[in-house]
Amino acid sequence: MPDFIYLDHAATTPIDPRVREVMTPYLDSQFGNASSVHRLGRRARFVVEECRERVADAIGAEPGEIIFTSGGTEADNLAIKGALMAASGGHLITSAAEHEAVLRPAEAHARRGEPLTLLEPDPFGRVTAGMVENALEPQTTLVSLMHANNEVGTLTAVREIAALCREAGVAFHTDAVQTMGLLRVDVGEMGVDLLSASAHKIYGPKGAGFLFVRGGVELAPLIEGGAQERRRRGGTENVAGIVGLTEALTLAIRESDARRSKAEGLRRHLLAALDAALDGIFRLSTPRDPSLAVPNIVNVHFPPVDGATLDGEMLLLNLDMEGVLVSAGSACTSGAMEPSHVLRAMGIEDRAAQAAVRFSFGKDTTEQELTLAVERLAGIVRRIRKRAVAS
Ligand code: PLP
Repeated sequence: MPDFIYLDHAATTPIDPRVREVMTPYLDSQFGNASSVHRLGRRARFVVEECRERVADAIGAEPGEIIFTSGGTEADNLAIKGALMAASGGHLITSAAEHEAVLRPAEAHARRGEPLTLLEPDPFGRVTAGMVENALEPQTTLVSLMHANNEVGTLTAVREIAALCREAGVAFHTDAVQTMGLLRVDVGEMGVDLLSASAHKIYGPKGAGFLFVRGGVELAPLIEGGAQERRRRGGTENVAGIVGLTEALTLAIRESDARRSKAEGLRRHLLAALDAALDGIFRLSTPRDPSLAVPNIVNVHFPPVDGATLDGEMLLLNLDMEGVLVSAGSACTSGAMEPSHVLRAMGIEDRAAQAAVRFSFGKDTTEQELTLAVERLAGIVRRIRKRAVAS
């Protein structure tokens, strides 16, 4: 048993032993390069193409519509930069609450003098179809909005927005990194043109993911080299990673009903525990209505009391010392304790957003762990506040 309570599954998950087992031969004796013509190469090619079929099948796509990548960040970059490059630029619509893997390419697009609309989400973190409709222009090339927000869990009405985009003849990309295996992800039903996913958020290996690109959607490659991935992503295939990704995705989908209903129960338990222990002290950044958010992410923040701000970094470090591993926001930005761009975009004031905690639970999290985590959080908050008021 680990000597900590891990509540940071939106940052990454441990590898599932069943995934590790199927990967091992490809890190060992089956080391062939999928481009080699001899037996080891042919075996690797066969496995990669079999995985492509399984991934495609799992999300309602065709095998030729799947591009294996090094993870969610590369998939997002390939979607945004690749689609815009293929269209020789144009107007991009996205939101201020997106992951950095979308925001940074969007900003680079704007720096090149191309038009960019950054939609401001509502106080729940939602970007609505109405907001997109108002922002669409004749020169709009691409709309990119995440399926679930990685910091607060808020869901986007992708189906409705995808339909709107299709009608306008605009490509629609969604980052589904946080919803794979928790919500149904079927590219046909969703109507999306591009969709990003990552293995390490669903008990697969780090450094593996994919981008779905609907047939007929033009995409320029970001990485040029060999003819891999139909010349849309050069480089020797990460066979073990692809095998791990495929197995993780298969398990996530097979077990999605159980994982989702477990997460829903844990969410109810966590909210009740927070309400009981910290009533009036914390605010939910995540929407309380369960239909508005992915069930495994709960984000809370602490507004200042009598002018005294809670120190977010101290909060996280104290939690770590007491064995509770959580995040302040997205893992990528928690090194620098800047208030989260997502909370800011939702209109939460900096002094409150600065003291935010994201709990994200996984398939093996227990109610007892959540109870303990809240008890420890409440003790730490009281201690820090007492010190802040005294000083
Ligand atoms: N998109 C979202 C919504 C994420 O949560 C993450 C991970 O933090 C990424 C993209 C990046 O994925 P990866 O870590 O596989 O590059």
